[in-house]
Amino acid sequence: MEVGFDACGITKAEELTVDAAYLKQWLEDGNNGDMHFLELNFEKRTDPRKLTPGCKSVVVVLLNYFPDKLQNPTAPQIAKYAYSSVDYHYVIKEKLKKLEQQITEKYGAEMVSPDYQHLFVDSAPVLERRWAQRAGLGWIGRNKMLIHEGLGSFVFIGVLLINEEAEYDNPTRNRCGNCSRCIDSCPTKALTDKGMNATRCISYLTIESKHEIEKEYHSKLSNCVLGCDICADVCPWNKKWSKPHMHNELATDNLQNNVNSFLDWNSDDWSELSEEKFNLEFKKSALKRAGFKQIKEVTRILNSQN
Ligand code: SF4
Ligand code: SF4
Repeated sequence: MEVGFDACGITKAEELTVDAAYLKQWLEDGNNGDMHFLELNFEKRTDPRKLTPGCKSVVVVLLNYFPDKLQNPTAPQIAKYAYSSVDYHYVIKEKLKKLEQQITEKYGAEMVSPDYQHLFVDSAPVLERRWAQRAGLGWIGRNKMLIHEGLGSFVFIGVLLINEEAEYDNPTRNRCGNCSRCIDSCPTKALTDKGMNATRCISYLTIESKHEIEKEYHSKLSNCVLGCDICADVCPWNKKWSKPHMHNELATDNLQNNVNSFLDWNSDDWSELSEEKFNLEFKKSALKRAGFKQIKEVTRILNSQN
C-alpha cells in the first residue's frame, strides 16, 4: 500500500452484539483489574456509530512489527511491540492521517467526521481485533491475539471510521483447530479454556497494574520485565508467518545517542540501569509508559528469582 501499511481491510460499522455480551460478562467478573477505562464508553465500544456518528464503514490496517533482531536472550525481556525507539502509537497515527488524506482527496472531505474522532490506535473505545477479524485481516486466536494469514500476530492495528459504505471483505475463519499451545505455555495461567483473565497476565502485572506484583507471581514472570510474548511466540502460525518488518519508523536503534542498543544489554546492564540512561535510551519509546521505577522494580524481582 502507498501509505506503507502491510494489510488493509474494510467492514460494515454496526453493533457488535456477541462481543458486547461477552465484554459485559468479562467486566462483571472483574477480569479487567485496574484497567477501569475498559468499563467506560461501553455502548461506544461495541457500536462505532455511537462513537463517531455518521460513520458507515470501518477501515482496518495492520503494520508488521516483528523485529529483525531479538534481545540478548539471557537479559530481562521486553515485549517486541515496545522494541521501536519511537512509540508505535505515533507511528501508526501518522500513517492513518496520511491514509485519511488520500481518501478525502480522492472521495471528498465528507468521507470523515469533522466533529468526532475517527482515527484510532489502541487508545479509544474500539474493539480493534474484532474489527480486523470482520474485515478479513485474521482471526482472534485462543491467546486473544489477532492472527493474520501471512503476517502472524506481531502486528499493530489501526482503525479509520469513514462515512461511506463500501465493498466489504469477508470475515476470517478461526484456524486454531485443536491447538492449545498458548494456553499450555502461559506461565501464570492467565489463559484458560474459558478465556483470559487479564489480571493474571504478565503484560498487566508489569505495565497496567497499579499495585505491587504479588509474591505468587514472582517465580512466574519468566524473565519478562515489560509485557510478555510467550503465548504469541509459541503459536505455530507465528512460527510459520512472522517475518522481520521493513519499516524504518519502527527501528530499534536510537540514532540520536551513543548508547548501545538495549538489544545487546545483558542482565547486569539492566540491573545497573540508571534513570539517566533509561531516559536517553527510551526517550520516545513505549517503555516510558511503564516508567523507570517500574522497570527497576520488575528487574529487582527477576534478580531475586535467580
Ligand atoms: S502474554 Fe504471557 S502471561 Fe499473558 S496470557 Fe500470554 S503467555 Fe500468559
Ligand atoms: S497457539 Fe494454537 S491455540 Fe493458541 S492462538 Fe496459536 S494456533 Fe490458536
